[in-house]
Amino acid sequence: MEREEILSWLRESDTDRLDALWRRADDTRRSCVGDAVHLRGLVEFANRCARSCAYCGLRADHHELPRYRMTPEEILRCADQIVDSGCGTIVLQSGEDPSLPAEWLADVVGRIKSRTPLAVTLSVGERDERDWAMWRQAGADRYLLRFETSNRALFDRIHPPLPDRRSDRLADLRTLRRLNYEVGSGVMIGIPGQTYEDLANDIEIFAAMSLDMIGVGPFIAHPRTPLGRAGSAGDPPAGQVPPTEEMTYKVIALARLVCPRANIPSTTALATLNRQTGRELGLMRGANVVMPNLTPTRYRQWYEIYPNKACVTESPGDCVPCMRSRIQAIDRRVGVGHGNSRNRSARASQPIEFQEP
Ligand code: SF4
Repeated sequence: MEREEILSWLRESDTDRLDALWRRADDTRRSCVGDAVHLRGLVEFANRCARSCAYCGLRADHHELPRYRMTPEEILRCADQIVDSGCGTIVLQSGEDPSLPAEWLADVVGRIKSRTPLAVTLSVGERDERDWAMWRQAGADRYLLRFETSNRALFDRIHPPLPDRRSDRLADLRTLRRLNYEVGSGVMIGIPGQTYEDLANDIEIFAAMSLDMIGVGPFIAHPRTPLGRAGSAGDPPAGQVPPTEEMTYKVIALARLVCPRANIPSTTALATLNRQTGRELGLMRGANVVMPNLTPTRYRQWYEIYPNKACVTESPGDCVPCMRSRIQAIDRRVGVGHGNSRNRSARASQPIEFQEP
């Protein structure tokens, strides 16, 4: 898809024309990855974070937030529950915590792989290549690291780096690919200062990197953060991308069109903006994955990256049945097995150069 067409869809407001975009994304989804919706059991196993991203409720200087790290035994119980509920993947997610020993996580991954048939996805932020290699060796299959925005100045403004490290997530994604992970990334939509040109660049990068998984969500600032406290003063500047539900669907649909074989989740952030039908609409506009939350209920309240997050008070036993009924209600079926990215298998048989545009 040409850049001008991406830009024109991002700016489109006519509902009939947008219906054509949703149909095109849904047709592409059906023909390239089928009707199965894969369930990924999400375990938010720790909320410690050394970073101070300007919008995130887990930021290091949110001192009132109780911090936790689940024990390996608690995580293994979650893994068993994920198997029992019929999900094929466990997603282990945490804040970015350099004090989390790589060996500790490698041990947890190894124990999950030896006692369950689950695929393991890690989402624990920026780490050294040595750690990523150790986790891959222990059996981790996939890694999620969103680059959030390709506008370098904008990224730096809201993601201050740690003192001894410069963030370069595109380089990190190359490293992860070299280590033979199934690689996922994505962006936030509507960051203050983000333009349509920026967002079009992001979508071009999805294609240039041939991502295996693409997760996108609206920008929602936690109130206990600098951007949350700043609020939205007056009208947004011209050219500012709005952090809306509709814009999120547009990016999901365009991601499907530029990366037709990728796995694309309909995210909790969408369900937060529209609790009734947000997840379903994401699935009907290009997505093929959902991530039921299997984190024990007592910890969920402390993993509020943004406020009013959906599914915080539910129990792990609630989320999978809820997702199954939503999937069936839109005439889709629940995927079985790992639900590996078809993009990765296609790439394995026909290597694709990993280039930025
Ligand atoms: S966005 Fe990630 S790295 Fe930044 S403060 Fe939140 S959890 Fe930490």
